[in-house]
Amino acid sequence: MSLNIDQIRGLFPVLHQEVHGKPLIYFDNAATTQKPQSVLDALSNYYGRDNSNIHRGAHALADRATQYYEETREAVREFVGAKEAAEIIFTKGTTESINLVAQTFGRKFIGKDDEIVISTMEHHSNIVPWQMLCEEKGAVLKIIPINDAGEIHFGEFEKLLSPKTKLVSIVHASNALGTINPVRKVIDAAHAVGARVLLDGAQSTSHLEINVQDLDCDFLAFSAHKLYGPTGLGVLYGKREILEAMPPFLGGGEMIKEVTFEKTTYNEIPFKFEAGTPNIADVIAFKSALDFIKQYGKPAIKAHEDALLAHANETMKPIRGFIPVGTAEEKVSVLSFNINGMHSFDVGQMLDAKGIAVRTGHHCTQPLMKRFGIEGTVRASFAVYNTKSEVDKMAEGLAQIARFKN
Ligand code: PLP
Repeated sequence: MSLNIDQIRGLFPVLHQEVHGKPLIYFDNAATTQKPQSVLDALSNYYGRDNSNIHRGAHALADRATQYYEETREAVREFVGAKEAAEIIFTKGTTESINLVAQTFGRKFIGKDDEIVISTMEHHSNIVPWQMLCEEKGAVLKIIPINDAGEIHFGEFEKLLSPKTKLVSIVHASNALGTINPVRKVIDAAHAVGARVLLDGAQSTSHLEINVQDLDCDFLAFSAHKLYGPTGLGVLYGKREILEAMPPFLGGGEMIKEVTFEKTTYNEIPFKFEAGTPNIADVIAFKSALDFIKQYGKPAIKAHEDALLAHANETMKPIRGFIPVGTAEEKVSVLSFNINGMHSFDVGQMLDAKGIAVRTGHHCTQPLMKRFGIEGTVRASFAVYNTKSEVDKMAEGLAQIARFKN
């Protein structure tokens, strides 16, 4: 199915504005996507009509809010193909989801001299929580090397695996390069040595069809705001038997069955991991974002984004001084590059003056930048509402900018 992009653009109010006197071209989608009107309406409807605390109320508004909140959990279950809704935990974002696993699964099941494997291309949120855990437990962090195209060395990965490996935590699609990792193979190899696998799905969930049962991953972490949904909301998927074996993360209301001063018993999953009043409005509005994606379908969305990426590669290549960073065969719609002789930040500022929003710098992947011997890149990342003519405008702008130095 080919998409009607004009009609889709009409659903996003934020796109229809000028920046520095130029029509906005928003290419910072890997940082966060824009939100369709249906998500904005869901937020406003919740606060204007249904606002109430959930799960414990004995009145109509509380029942309604609880029903909508749990409907989103079911929609997320379907979105990732989980077996049951109880395996879906709402968090603040990918970062909190990974920290939750580090602080609960990690603290209980990872000990001295055990090993955790991550890759060179991880976001800081899939590095630092494991470093903190390793420091506390005396465990060891092992790093999968990558090649010059920005792909993991699978053979080197296999060499890192041993019975000491307790967890492999790897990004499904890189935010800095766009590389899609061969996670199915990674999961099978890790399971063969008895290790659990966490997938950082922050960048993959908006582009790729995901079925956690087919993949057989043990955990999947992602953020609603990169999926046309609200900020401050994320998801942790975990297999039931693992979540049940894990101790709680935060203590407080909602996560308990019974509290006495002598002993507290914990609630069932997922509530065991959702202490306190959750982010009700954003959870409810997230369902509208998932409905938006479902309406068009990820294959059609990805086909459109792939075409934009191919067009961008073609139009940028002739620009003198254009240096692509990350040229993997399998990529999501992320174009990372530098302009010879120019700092990425300066290029970003000059594009901004033309109304074009991109990301510059290290993209929270400093070790990856070090691997390429650079400080950072300019990153243009595409979403369903972007167009070829926007890509052309960026190419024209970059050609002008590159002429300064090349
Ligand atoms: N992992 C990857 C690959 C990301 O791209 C991001 C955000 O940019 C994160 C983790 C962290 O996501 P959040 O800031 O929503 O917690």
